Amino acid sequence: MIDYQAVINRIISEANSFLGKGKIADYIPALAEVSSDRLGIAVNLVDGRTFKTGDADIPFSIQSISKVFTLSMVVGAIGEDLWNSVGREPSGNPFNSLVQLEHEKGIPRNPFINAGAIVVTDRLISLYPRPKEAILDFVRSIAGNADIYYDTRVAISERENADRNMALAYFMKSFGNIHNDVEMLIDVYCHQCALSMSCSDLSRAFLLYANRGVNPQNNVRILTESQTKRLGAVMSTCGFYDESGDFAYRVGLPGKSGVGGGIAAYMPGKLAISVWSPELNNFGNSLAGIEILERFTTDIQRSIF
Ligand code: GLU
Repeated sequence: MIDYQAVINRIISEANSFLGKGKIADYIPALAEVSSDRLGIAVNLVDGRTFKTGDADIPFSIQSISKVFTLSMVVGAIGEDLWNSVGREPSGNPFNSLVQLEHEKGIPRNPFINAGAIVVTDRLISLYPRPKEAILDFVRSIAGNADIYYDTRVAISERENADRNMALAYFMKSFGNIHNDVEMLIDVYCHQCALSMSCSDLSRAFLLYANRGVNPQNNVRILTESQTKRLGAVMSTCGFYDESGDFAYRVGLPGKSGVGGGIAAYMPGKLAISVWSPELNNFGNSLAGIEILERFTTDIQRSIF
């Protein structure tokens, strides 16, 4: 039987060797204020056991990890129709690139690059009259924590520096692939990125996927098994910017990263794991986070492969 607490304790005790080598995201000024030596790990098993170490209960800006939650809400509501407006191929371009959109006539490559996530949020706005509240309700229900909020300072800072995301949205609107007002859309998008959650919150939330679409907090099915499988496929092929192939190679779990330095991943039928370390590598993924997850799946000798 695996002693998960011992595994994560050992990994965090070795973490000094991979701190101080990356760079905190500063293109959203409020994100740059976090201290670089934060480090947390939380593991939740589908059988209810939980393990954590370090800064696992300190909330941070989950940024692009939110794209999994909004995608889940929209896929759960409209199913396969979403894939007429967003692809599901790795992009091979930076997460905020405009170039590919021109070639592909306003249909973003996948729901985890910014353009794709903006289309997903646009559909979510069409589904919910109060989208920011709906996102909060969803995330709180799967994380089992009614105290999850938006970090409004981060949301405002991001909104003030959202020219590129606005450009992506207007560009897609010119192809008919955005249905709502762009100012309102980017406001909702900036808020979802500014969701403030801890590693413990994220691991509980990602148990939804490990639990094959059933919310482990209340046993209510949110996604079909097939939808969950498909979300997992997109996470494993597109969840880590231009490092998704290497993440599959080194770690072997579906998951999603964000420029706040968080990573949430899961093993179907077994567990969810989240790590937070704000310094990013050249691809925008948490440098220590990837090292930790690689050591974790190596130590427990399990992955999806
Ligand atoms: N809010 C960020 C942006 O749109 C998300 C970046 C990320 O975590 O990938 O630029």
